[in-house]
Amino acid sequence: GETITVQELAEKLKKTAAEVIKKLMNLGVLATINQEIDFDTAALIAGEFGVEAELKVAVDKEALIMAEPEDDPAQLVPRPPVVTIMGHVDHGKTSLLDAIRQTNVTAGEAGGITQHIGAYQVEHNGKKITFVDTPGHAAFTAMRARGAQITDIAILVVAADDGVMPQTVEAINHAKAANVPIIVAINKMDKPEANPDKVKQELTQHELVVEDWGGDVIAVPVSAKTRMGLDNLLEMILLVAEVNELKANPNRRARGTVVEAELDKGRGPVATVLVQNGTLNVGDTIVVGHAYGRVRAMIDDKGRRVKKAGPSTPVEILGLSDVPEAGDILVVVEDEKLAREVAEKRQMRKREEILKATAKISLDDLFKHI
Ligand code: GDP
Ligand code: MG
Repeated sequence: GETITVQELAEKLKKTAAEVIKKLMNLGVLATINQEIDFDTAALIAGEFGVEAELKVAVDKEALIMAEPEDDPAQLVPRPPVVTIMGHVDHGKTSLLDAIRQTNVTAGEAGGITQHIGAYQVEHNGKKITFVDTPGHAAFTAMRARGAQITDIAILVVAADDGVMPQTVEAINHAKAANVPIIVAINKMDKPEANPDKVKQELTQHELVVEDWGGDVIAVPVSAKTRMGLDNLLEMILLVAEVNELKANPNRRARGTVVEAELDKGRGPVATVLVQNGTLNVGDTIVVGHAYGRVRAMIDDKGRRVKKAGPSTPVEILGLSDVPEAGDILVVVEDEKLAREVAEKRQMRKREEILKATAKISLDDLFKHI
């Protein structure tokens, strides 16, 4: 969360640090002048001094732009589920993603899928499903570290000829920790040595009991190779989505999360963003982590230029000042000056952190699992 030092807060409130420390003590918080306190506490102290509610937001510009106004329930409409594929290496995550994607190539798009933007949407029975094809582990770890959650449903791929393996268990634990429902895809069913019962038995050791064994976990036998069971898998995803009543408000400023980003030689910083709420428009002023800018162009997963992107839509955006990081949150800001100010403050903070860090895991390390 956002923090502010006691000294900074005192300055903003036009009080002495001693006065602020005293108020903190009244709240049972022992603080020194240079101590960082969180925004909620700062707001509480501001309130203690009789500062109005609006003023407390001005205490921190960053908190101001990141604030997420509550949606009017009447404005909420169903949105497509966002699905991440997880599982042990070589169990078929990439193959499954590719197979689902190809199955959904319509005649008009045939051959048109040259674009790779890290996430894509398919349609099944007239309903959309968004697949994020960053490796599940990275999506969970990198993104959760930043407090971002992009996944509604986790597909746990387990190869029927191999069974539950260490990364399968890791994936189960990640999904459980994030409280994300799991659908098991028992893959490689085309292989003669496929043994789905062994997979189901092993899953029970990790508290995943499949439906035909009396539990509530949906397991779908599939083959990424022959495409057997893919329709059924999509069906089950939509079923789980329906049960979870996923909703968003398209009629507000967009908020989203970066799935991946890079510096493109010709186009400059390019970020693939999953819009999670609101609608992102070309021309919007945005802050994305330590980057900011105006959305100059947006490209969808089919390589088409689009002018707007609504909830659960993955889109590639151009026009940023810098390359953001996977997991960074995108917000739309009315005021361009404010956008730059916040981004620059973050850049400074980031530089300090880099100087401090002795060893830093590169994104490549983080994303090497797929
Ligand atoms: P990932 O590491 O989980 O992304 O796995 P890949 O998608 O790269 O697949 C690993 C290997 O398994 C590749 O050689 C695939 O061709 C193969 N594979 C994936 N799915 C199937 C399947 O359904 N049947 C068969 N026979 N092979 C598969
Ligand atoms: Mg892979």
